[in-house]
Amino acid sequence: MQEISITRATVLKEKPTDESKLGFGKIFTDHMFLMDYEEGRGWHDPRIVPYGNFSLDPATTVFHYGQAIFEGTKCYRRADGGLQLFRPKDNLARMTRSARRMCMPALDEETAYEGLVKLLEIEQDWVPHQEGTSLYIRPTMMATDVMLGVHAAKHYLFFIILCPVGSYYKDGLKPVGIYVEDAYVRAVRGGTGFTKCAGNYAASILAGQIAEEKGYSQVLWLDGVEQRYVEEVGAMNMMFAYGNRIVTPALNGSILPGITRESVLTLARQLGYETEEGRLAIADIFEDAKAGRLTEAFGTGTAAVISPVGELCWKDEKLIIGGGQIGPVARKLYDTLTGIQFGRIEDKNGWVIRLS
Ligand SMILES: *Cc1c(COP(=O)(O)O)cnc(C)c1O
Repeated sequence: MQEISITRATVLKEKPTDESKLGFGKIFTDHMFLMDYEEGRGWHDPRIVPYGNFSLDPATTVFHYGQAIFEGTKCYRRADGGLQLFRPKDNLARMTRSARRMCMPALDEETAYEGLVKLLEIEQDWVPHQEGTSLYIRPTMMATDVMLGVHAAKHYLFFIILCPVGSYYKDGLKPVGIYVEDAYVRAVRGGTGFTKCAGNYAASILAGQIAEEKGYSQVLWLDGVEQRYVEEVGAMNMMFAYGNRIVTPALNGSILPGITRESVLTLARQLGYETEEGRLAIADIFEDAKAGRLTEAFGTGTAAVISPVGELCWKDEKLIIGGGQIGPVARKLYDTLTGIQFGRIEDKNGWVIRLS
C-alpha cells in the first residue's frame, strides 16, 4: 500500500440543508482522491486534494479516443448515525475488468480502496441523513497522454469524487414504463457491453432521448445481432418473475455484470425463490405476460436498487405487467436489499463494510 498524501481545503462548501432536494450528481463534496499512472512506473502519487478543476491539454487522448471508464457505488448512513459501504471492492475489481478491455492499466485496487476510505473519513458529514439518501461514489479512470496517435495511452489519471444524492423513490417504490428499443443497439458480441466505459453511455443517449419523447423513462436494449433477446436497461439489469421463479438474461459479454444483479440473485435464493439465468426472447416475455404466467418485471442497479416495470412498449404494442403495480417479489427484494445496505437487516453474506 502506498502512502496517501492529504491536502485539506481551506474553505469548505455550504452543505445542502434540504435533503429532499438533493437530486442526483449535482452537488460535490470538498475533496477528491487522485492517483496517476505512467507506463513502467505504475500507479503513483495517491493523494486527497480539494475538489477542483483539471487542467488538460486539448490533445489529451481521452477527449479524442475515449479511453474512459467509471464505477458507481454508495456510502449509506445507518439509523445509529454510523456509515457503511456495500461491496465496494467488487466495484474496484470490475473497474480492472473494464480497464483490460479498454487497454487501460489494472487499477491498484488496494490503494484506491484506502483512498476511498480516507476520503470518506474526511467527508463523513456530507453523507445525508434523510431516509433513502446516500453519498454516491464515482471512481473514474481516463487516458491522459498528450498525442493524437491512435494507440493505448501510457499515462492515466484515476480519481474518486463524491456527491450526496436524494432518495430515488421520494413517493415510494413506483413502477416505470420502459421502451423496448428495436432500431438502435447498445452493445454487440465482442464489443464493450460488459465494461462500464463512457462510450457505452454516449452511444445510448439518442435512443434514451427518443424513448423519453414517447413518454417512457428508459430503454430496454435487445441483443445487437437479432434484436430478439432481452439484454438490459440503461443502467439496470432486468429480471422477470414467474410467480416464485425469477429469470434474468445470462451474462453473455454484452451485458454489464451488475453488483446489484448478483446480490439480488443471491438474496432471492436465500429467500426461497428459484432463480434462472438464460436467453429471454422479448416475444416470449410479451406472450407470457399476456397469458398471466409472467407476473412481474423489474430492473436492478445501484441507483434505484429495484425498479419495478409496470409497462413495456415494443413495436408500438403496449404491455401492462402485474396490473402496473409493484409485485410482492420486487417489494420483498427491495426491502431486504435496502435493509441490508442501510443496516436495518443483518448482512449474512459479508457484503457490508462498516466505516464507523
Ligand atoms: C452500472 C450498470 C448496471 C448496474 O450495475 P450495478 O453494479 O448493479 O450498479 C447495469 N447496466 C449498466 C449498463 C450499467 O452501466
